Amino acid sequence: MALIVQKFGGSSVADPDRIRAVADHIVRTQRAGNQVVVVVSAMGKSTDNLVRLAHDVSHHPHGREMDMLLTAGERISMALLCMAVIDLGVHAVSFTGSQAGIVTDTVHGKAKILEVKGDRIRSTLSQGSVAVVAGFQGISTAKDITTLGRGGSDTTAVALAASLGAEVCEIYTDVSGVFTADPRIVPEARKLSHVSFEEMLEIAATGGKVLALRSVEFARNHGVPVHVRSSFTWEPGTWVVEEDPSMEQAIISGVTHDTSEAKVTIAQVADRPGVAASLFRALAEAAVNVDMIVQNVSTAGHTDISFTVPKDDLHRALGVMEKISPELESTGITHDADVARVSVIGAGMRTNPGVAAKMFEVLADEGVNIEMISTSSIRISCVVSAGDVDRAVQALHAAFDLQNA
Ligand code: ADP
Ligand code: ASP
Ligand code: MG
Repeated sequence: MALIVQKFGGSSVADPDRIRAVADHIVRTQRAGNQVVVVVSAMGKSTDNLVRLAHDVSHHPHGREMDMLLTAGERISMALLCMAVIDLGVHAVSFTGSQAGIVTDTVHGKAKILEVKGDRIRSTLSQGSVAVVAGFQGISTAKDITTLGRGGSDTTAVALAASLGAEVCEIYTDVSGVFTADPRIVPEARKLSHVSFEEMLEIAATGGKVLALRSVEFARNHGVPVHVRSSFTWEPGTWVVEEDPSMEQAIISGVTHDTSEAKVTIAQVADRPGVAASLFRALAEAAVNVDMIVQNVSTAGHTDISFTVPKDDLHRALGVMEKISPELESTGITHDADVARVSVIGAGMRTNPGVAAKMFEVLADEGVNIEMISTSSIRISCVVSAGDVDRAVQALHAAFDLQNA
């Protein structure tokens, strides 16, 4: 008997019809002889609505209370889903993250899972029932309710799959797998039958939100097979797997885009050892996630440093920078939230020169100005104006011929 973890995202359980369709699939999976653990997200856009509500009553919603609020979304969907499953003749029991034994650190809003106890899940399964776990949440070592960051139900699912030794973690969503670009922006994007953990990490880190980044890290570290597929068509989707060194690698596997970050520049800081260390230490202590960093050539002993931060962290980053700027002798701080990042990703890039040149040429032909560049061994990213990003993604997808295998 196989143990299968099935995760259903918000669009998969957006209304009563969808919940009944998902319940039907769960029951079929169980009746086919499997043990089923389900992880469920909040219905439709309900997490967004709760975030809006919080900002309607508070300028800076308190972290602990925000988490208490947001976890309510998943509580609703898990209970409704269990009711629908029970109606089909299979017993199902819902669990909050805390009840499921998902223990996290104490960082509200982006807590990390430290441990999955899972005893109640195991005993539920041994009684022949389906266990339905609320995604995206846990209980901290200080006994407070925490959330894992937006999109965190994927991480709950993979963590449970790892801890229970599941045969597969199925991530059901509103697209039929991982595509060569976001199909909403590039309708001719092609579904990948397989993608390596390494490429999937880069895709998730650069805006391909079909899987949350942490879930991919977790899956790779614990060797969990992940299958991303549609809860609308139920067709086979994309397997995220260990790279097969004997296979020839595509030069480019996908183009991603991300509009969630802002660019910040601290002008004319002193060009001496320790300046970058002081700046980024201060940002790290304020839990600001810094991404792309560019330091300009120094003139007259001073230099500009630009970097990107999540828009959600921008306010906090600016506060930290204002405070530290006199110590760094900076002449001023500027920011631009109207930027986006476009990236091309592919393991074959390592052995094929010229990808960067081609990417920059394509953007130039489109009249898209590049503001920042960063690379890894299998990725090239450019920060561009937000208004140009869709066109940039479409042009790169076509230029690298990604619609054809
Ligand atoms: P869920 O609510 O099921 O977690 P998400 O909205 O988090 O779903 O993720 C699915 C969405 O990810 C798709 O609707 C699609 O627009 C978007 N997406 C972005 N990049 C990609 C990609 N490369 N392949 C597939 N989907 C992508
Ligand atoms: N409901 C949460 C969110 O919208 C978690 C998730 O869907 O994965 O971010
Ligand atoms: Mg998601």
